[in-house]
Amino acid sequence: MRQSQSLIPTLKEVPADADIKSHQLLLRAGFIRQTASGIYSFLPLGKRVLKKVEDIVREEMDRIGANEMLMPAMQPAELWKETGRWNNFGPELMRMHDRHEREFALGATHEEVVTSIIRDEVKSYKRLPLSLYQIQTKFRDEKRPRFGLLRGREFVMKDAYSFHDSFDSLDETYKHMYEAYKRIFSRCGLNFRAVIADSGSMGGKDTHEFMVLSEVGEDIIAYSDQSEYAANIEMAPVVTTYSVPEVAQKDMELVETPGKKTMQEVADYLGHGLDQGLKAIMFKVDDQLVLVVTRGDHEVNDIKLKNLYNASIVELASEEETRQLLGAGFGSLGPVGVDNKVDVIADTAVEFVRNVSCGGNKDGYHYINVNPGRDFQVKEYADLRFIQEGDPSPDGKGTIQFAKGIEVGHVFKLGTLYAERMNATFLNDQGKANPMVMGCYGIGVSRTVAAIVEQFHDDNGMVWPTAVAPYQVHLLVLNSKNEEQASLGDQLYEELIQAGVEVLYDDRKERAGVKFADSDLIGIPNRITVGKRAADGIVEFKQRSDDEKEELTIEQLRDKFT
Ligand code: ATP
Ligand code: MG
Ligand code: MG
Ligand code: MG
Repeated sequence: MRQSQSLIPTLKEVPADADIKSHQLLLRAGFIRQTASGIYSFLPLGKRVLKKVEDIVREEMDRIGANEMLMPAMQPAELWKETGRWNNFGPELMRMHDRHEREFALGATHEEVVTSIIRDEVKSYKRLPLSLYQIQTKFRDEKRPRFGLLRGREFVMKDAYSFHDSFDSLDETYKHMYEAYKRIFSRCGLNFRAVIADSGSMGGKDTHEFMVLSEVGEDIIAYSDQSEYAANIEMAPVVTTYSVPEVAQKDMELVETPGKKTMQEVADYLGHGLDQGLKAIMFKVDDQLVLVVTRGDHEVNDIKLKNLYNASIVELASEEETRQLLGAGFGSLGPVGVDNKVDVIADTAVEFVRNVSCGGNKDGYHYINVNPGRDFQVKEYADLRFIQEGDPSPDGKGTIQFAKGIEVGHVFKLGTLYAERMNATFLNDQGKANPMVMGCYGIGVSRTVAAIVEQFHDDNGMVWPTAVAPYQVHLLVLNSKNEEQASLGDQLYEELIQAGVEVLYDDRKERAGVKFADSDLIGIPNRITVGKRAADGIVEFKQRSDDEKEELTIEQLRDKFT
């Protein structure tokens, strides 16, 4: 591509509202532009990188026998009502209606759509297992869209879904997906860890997240320095200033939820009716919010809770245990929350913490997503705390370290939850109808692009790994007005293209300094500069990732690239 014919609007200044490197550099190098908050246009270079990542994902999905398809972004509310997620998904789901007042959602994910297709088309165990995937635009009305492509409201996801006649079959596909994910992120050049994740909100069992290690990551990973053990501690309270016994000694104050006053409203916000078993109480210790939630067999979206309140979260294992522990006060909230029970709740909150600090039922409650034994050793309940750096790893090998991570992928064993709710059954070899067993597997394709930039840049700009670089060669002609330089540039450009090399050709009538600065910013792995020695048939070659420059004859250059 001739740069004079492309749209690569580079910026000298760091854009004001871009806080992190990937956001700044993708804007500055002219890869993306913001169209609205959390909504981006991919300009030509950005689109090329996105496609490179997509193609890697596609190859690895195809390789394990997943079939590519494409589902609609616009989805009828009826499907989401079948699974209960029309209510449960909360405000992240973008909703709309058509001219006939029919309700729709813009797909945040596609379990409902894909399950509705499979339940109609697949009736026999003979057609299972089956894996399908798509690479498609997703919509989530994130509370805090930020960091450019890392957390958008419209973004590109690869989502795959697998259907099985047994859990064993699911286990096998899950393993293949897991391995495919490792290959995908390795091919992107990324430094990542696969971590044990929380299965809270989707009712599944095994689940792993793929985390790109980065200081700007929003997740914290606890990993062993000597083994494969790694777990997300995202559900752990942000603030661990208080151990539970300390909390019990403090004065507590029940607080209203920001803008949401009754328990009913809290439940509504979370998308869990109180009648579905959600119970939550919140109190304040000094300036720290503590939220106690029960987790029955309903779905509690823990992340949402944490984000909404910025609170520490203590979780009770089941509503039954909550009732036992908290007695009539909390339990009597009944199916609908009411304001006038506020005092009772405040008292029971104190009671609750005292109970915990006194030992209580040792198995009954724990911090969300931090499983005693798995993530830390509980010595005494009174010492309950989060896993910390320096703790022995739960697998007995090595010591725990913390790192921040960007979640680029997530694999999940869903089990039969969706199939049951949507009545997706198959006939087994005995002719008996059973719900299909499912898995789902996501990759944030556009997020991955940003994650790559986070790991591959220097002070002058991006440094693309070859596999995902927008072009392989950046060809610069320093003085386009000079006949010899221009004609050698044109000639090399043609030759490289003939040889199948992806070339960006800076043939613009710009100063050399501008061309070099833009070239570093854009970060194409190989740079060929046609300058003063063009008449002698000599050009300069430099790799973006390294400072060495070498002069090459045209012949030597041909050997390198053709
Ligand atoms: P997060 O914890 O970052 O909000 P998630 O757990 O809600 O992500 P999933 O439902 O697991 O996301 O979706 C699959 C993948 O889609 C994620 O692993 C992530 O890479 C990507 N993704 C999710 N939300 C966004 C977003 N707002 N912008 C860009 N990519 C996203
Ligand atoms: Mg999310
Ligand atoms: Mg997540
Ligand atoms: Mg996830």
